[in-house]
Amino acid sequence: MLPYGRQSISEADIEAVAQVLRGDWLTTGPAVDQFEETISKLAGNHPAVSCTSGTAALHIAYAAIGVEPGDEVITTPMTFVATASGASILGAKVVFADVELDTGLLDPAAVEAALSPRTRVIAAVDYAGHPADYDAFRPLADSVGAVLLDDAAHSIGATYHDRPVGDLADLTTFSFFPTKMVTTAEGGAVVSRNAELAQRAREFHFIGLVRDPQRFRIPDQGAWHQEVHAFGLNYRLSDVACALGMSQLARLAQFKARRAELTARYNDALKDIAGLRTPVQRSDVDPAWHLYPVRILDGRRREVFDKLRAAGIGVQVNYMPVYWHPVYQDLGYKQGMCPNAEQFFSEEISLPLFPDLTNEQQDQVIDALAEALQ
Ligand SMILES: *Cc1c(COP(=O)(O)O)cnc(C)c1O
Repeated sequence: MLPYGRQSISEADIEAVAQVLRGDWLTTGPAVDQFEETISKLAGNHPAVSCTSGTAALHIAYAAIGVEPGDEVITTPMTFVATASGASILGAKVVFADVELDTGLLDPAAVEAALSPRTRVIAAVDYAGHPADYDAFRPLADSVGAVLLDDAAHSIGATYHDRPVGDLADLTTFSFFPTKMVTTAEGGAVVSRNAELAQRAREFHFIGLVRDPQRFRIPDQGAWHQEVHAFGLNYRLSDVACALGMSQLARLAQFKARRAELTARYNDALKDIAGLRTPVQRSDVDPAWHLYPVRILDGRRREVFDKLRAAGIGVQVNYMPVYWHPVYQDLGYKQGMCPNAEQFFSEEISLPLFPDLTNEQQDQVIDALAEALQ
């Protein structure tokens, strides 16, 4: 089965990992520092904290903000559950605002309508690798003193108004799962434009340990001393994983270019096929295409999906609206809340898109899709 996404691993990646295994540090050594510095550079020169997954990155981000019961977090339903559940697990109320029907991105007008004095965070998602409209979210966040968060699990390397992802929101989270732009097997990162949030993120991902003598509340201890001021978890990424990440980041531009090339080929081949709609791109962004979300019209999504799977094409659907998950239904969220997200979901199929997909394989996908739609 041709997958919808997969990693691209080179001999250099393998050698980078082997080199760490032969060395002194398996974790929290020089590879972690190098990986974080490299992420920081490509994400607007803001401090980066690596961590064990994109889900962990979201948990860290919400914890660093101090999200707690009584707070509201406005986000999109057109995302992976972790964008919302990272706030829910801290006791916040998640308020789902609807998406733009064409892009599937969080709609600023819907966010504005959802604002309240309790809004603590506005969390946008760069669905498919296309940055959301941060210049529209900024004044909305400022108007209620909320933090702006970019779940950039799809979009590392993308730009918006010539600014890199990582520079667009107060906090940005990345995922390095194998299907994403670059991988560390499992992994993620949090980038922060705010020094205090960056510090809190770092401590939360490191069990809450404080190691700076200037800040000790128990003074005059020996060199062994470290202390905890706020609870945290162990979300540290290893040197083994970061070595893979460093090697992968060296090819980020190449991955992005190949994904853009494949996206353009799909757009061109599919534009004249009746019964589908190709993805929309705004003029002010340079996306990092993680997904190729085609929309199947006339209520035929399920049928076309099943035909493609039967033809050996591992298509996926991204995403069921988050509030459809039973955990949110049990909290009283109702289907029908965000009609655009529901329509988008009902039509969407993610076609195979990854750097090592060959033109021949892509042509097979295009032929199978055209046949399924006949
Ligand atoms: C993949 C993903 C995550 C979670 O990342 P993991 O590394 O799989 O935990 C969060 N948000 C979005 C939008 C994602 O696509």
